[in-house]
Amino acid sequence: MPFVHLTHAARVVFGVGTLDRLSAEVELAGLERLLVLTTPGQAALGVRVGDILGSRVAAIHPHAAMHTPVDATLAAVARAQSLSVDGLLAIGGGSTIGLGKAIARRLHLPQIAVPTTYAGSEMTPISGETENGLKTTMSDDRLRPAMVLYDVDLTIGLPASIAAVSGLNAIAHAVEALYARDANPVTALFAREGIAKMAGALRVIARAPGDVAARSDALYASWLCGMCLGSVGMALHHKLCHTLGGSFGLPHAPTHAAVLPHAMAYNAPAAPQADRAIAEALGSRSAAQGLFDLAADIGAPTALRDIGMAEQDIEPAIEIALANPYWNPRPIERAPLRALLRNAWSGQRPEIMS
Ligand code: NAD
Repeated sequence: MPFVHLTHAARVVFGVGTLDRLSAEVELAGLERLLVLTTPGQAALGVRVGDILGSRVAAIHPHAAMHTPVDATLAAVARAQSLSVDGLLAIGGGSTIGLGKAIARRLHLPQIAVPTTYAGSEMTPISGETENGLKTTMSDDRLRPAMVLYDVDLTIGLPASIAAVSGLNAIAHAVEALYARDANPVTALFAREGIAKMAGALRVIARAPGDVAARSDALYASWLCGMCLGSVGMALHHKLCHTLGGSFGLPHAPTHAAVLPHAMAYNAPAAPQADRAIAEALGSRSAAQGLFDLAADIGAPTALRDIGMAEQDIEPAIEIALANPYWNPRPIERAPLRALLRNAWSGQRPEIMS
């Protein structure tokens, strides 16, 4: 089978306790004046990095926010410029890594990412930003962090409820990679392994949040799923989640959890091979039902109405999703899209089509 696959250079360090290697990695990268980025909630982690790196840290900037609002980015850019930093170190989830990319996009600075959720942004060239209620994304290969340090220890304290939705966010990347227009056998391998490893790990983490082996599997799976997101195009599911997050303020990962089974059910008739691969990876007869049951089993939200979406937002969400839609294996049409969103809003278990 003919295919095109691009490999991208990034140094990836993975393990338990790898934060011990941060100093050596920063030295190897030749960076001497870093701006360390965190969310306000993870400010203590920024201080810990400051203690580890000493004079190589110019400042800690604990102001990353969900959906990368442009005003927060511009404030961070001004700070980076006033301190003449030579690099960025983002430690946290997708919001923090997103802020690093948004600064890098404007100042062309190298980035180190230390992910603490399973969102996968560290492996992608994609930068999303929100301004005036609209979330837009752009892709530029120069925005991939050059160095990514995965430390399983940093994820042990990720509450099981956040781990559940974050893991489903990762699975969403792998699901859409399996039916992507530019899918190839390598990304399909990553995707199948990522889904299977993540699903198994999330079931363990839901019952035993401190299980190091399961946390390690989940972080490894998030890397695989992040590589899917960073390698091939995404489709209807990601478009819907960006719309719901950017325009209606819904939280990123819980939105992925509630929408994914329904996006999968929508696309299943047009992507039967991907559907079978996902079902197999989940150990389920149906991919859509398997994803819905996984979300329910691990306590993730299964209804958009439970995470703050008002019923009257369904119609405007359809309009936004229909404007400039992403490529999708099944044409995006108003009536079935409305059915998808209504089912995701109410949290109905998807039906098997055949
Ligand atoms: P997040 O980064 O907003 O983190 C959610 C919350 O969890 C934050 O309050 C954070 O401080 C906290 N947190 C993170 N790690 C923790 C840990 N180990 N222990 C305790 N608390 C922790 O959420 P997210 O889901 O990782 O990222 C969402 C954002 O990332 C969205 O804006 C999304 O669009 C973006 N994203 C971008 C890409 C990309 O390729 N550009 C990919 C995935 C997600």
